[in-house]
Amino acid sequence: MGPAMDMAVRTDEAAFRAEVRAFLDAALTPALRAAGRATWGTYSEIDAAREWHRRLHARGWVAPVWPVAHGGAGWTARQRLIFEHECALADAPILFAGGIRTIGPLLIAMGSAEQKARYLPAILAGADFWCQGFSETGAGSDLAALQLKAVREGEAYVLDGAKIWTTGAHDANRMFALVRTAKGEKKQDGITFLLIDMATPGITVRPIHSLSGDHEFNEVIFEEARVPVSQRVGAENEGWAVAKLLMRFARQSNTTSGLVRRAMAAAKRAMADCTDAALLARRAALEIELTALEALELRLLGGAQAADEAASSLLKTVATELHQRVAELALDAAGVEAFPAAARKYLNARAASIYSGTNETHRNLLAAQLIGRL
Ligand SMILES: Cc1cc2nc3c(=O)[nH]c(=O)nc-3n(C[C@H](O)[C@H](O)[C@H](O)COP(=O)(O)OP(=O)(O)OC[C@H]3O[C@@H](n4cnc5c(N)ncnc54)[C@H](O)[C@@H]3O)c2cc1C
Repeated sequence: MGPAMDMAVRTDEAAFRAEVRAFLDAALTPALRAAGRATWGTYSEIDAAREWHRRLHARGWVAPVWPVAHGGAGWTARQRLIFEHECALADAPILFAGGIRTIGPLLIAMGSAEQKARYLPAILAGADFWCQGFSETGAGSDLAALQLKAVREGEAYVLDGAKIWTTGAHDANRMFALVRTAKGEKKQDGITFLLIDMATPGITVRPIHSLSGDHEFNEVIFEEARVPVSQRVGAENEGWAVAKLLMRFARQSNTTSGLVRRAMAAAKRAMADCTDAALLARRAALEIELTALEALELRLLGGAQAADEAASSLLKTVATELHQRVAELALDAAGVEAFPAAARKYLNARAASIYSGTNETHRNLLAAQLIGRL
């Protein structure tokens, strides 16, 4: 990029940032900001998250990565990062966004015409909220070992088994899931990708309380739950390829530094009157690391190329571990009054290096890619 072009991009970005700020100023009520600030898990209190979803939808900004033709904002990666950053600084609620981030883009790419017409508008409007039914006991990092049985009977699959750690299953009315329809030579064979209505008879959601005592994820039991064959995405037994494509979309729409920026804002609030030199020095060092992370994210995601696997594994591990150290600082700095909220956020931040693939498995992926490139 030459200097003139560079200047034009910067001017455009400054204008975009100003537009985002003006919108956030007008659209974020004190109650929405309070809900954003109080967020301890991966999404804000559900009523606030839904209200914020509707306001973003009314502005045409709820689906940053979707193409404009499908009702998305059609933003570049740099615009998405600017938006994310400004939302963090303004304490916007965090959306319950599985529909927007993962299943929506997947359906745009490979859903049937009927599936697109039925689900995409409902995701945008905030009428449908989706949870992800992938993990099972014994099938987390080794996801392809999943066993939830789906037997074809006429025009339906009959499901028996259980999913676990399903974030927001109690707030969602739909689930996208991987089920076993056959035993293949490889464990990746014989997996099928289904769209499931959570109101289907035979589905029970049981809450699981995490270390902090909070309820965000669940166990979901299936007992002879019938899912129409029309709700399959891709071919029977070929759901692994569908899941891999979905992960690619998830990588493209996940920004990582925004969550750390939010945690840093909480630490700064906790330290407003702090005079402890050691704590202030820790904060300064973490702030430098966060600024470096944001620059890295812009470099890796902001270019012309979409995020590749290595870039997103790198960002995921760096960001989640920094997030945990910032949450630890906020806890150490918290006085008596701020302690319960800081402890709650600290304990929930421990989960960040486990979900979306554990950091150990991301390091394995990184190593494999680096060795492959040698
Ligand atoms: C807060 C939270 C929300 C979640 N939400 C969802 C959800 O909505 N939907 C969903 O489907 N799942 C969800 N999960 C599940 C998550 O995807 C799994 O927990 C994760 O994939 C790890 O699987 P596991 O828990 O079975 O641990 P295991 O895979 O059993 O791993 C146990 C330990 O062994 C390590 N390990 C495993 N294999 C290797 C290896 N090859 N090399 C080195 N180390 C290894 C792991 O890193 C980990 O430290 C969520 C988890 C959490 C914590």
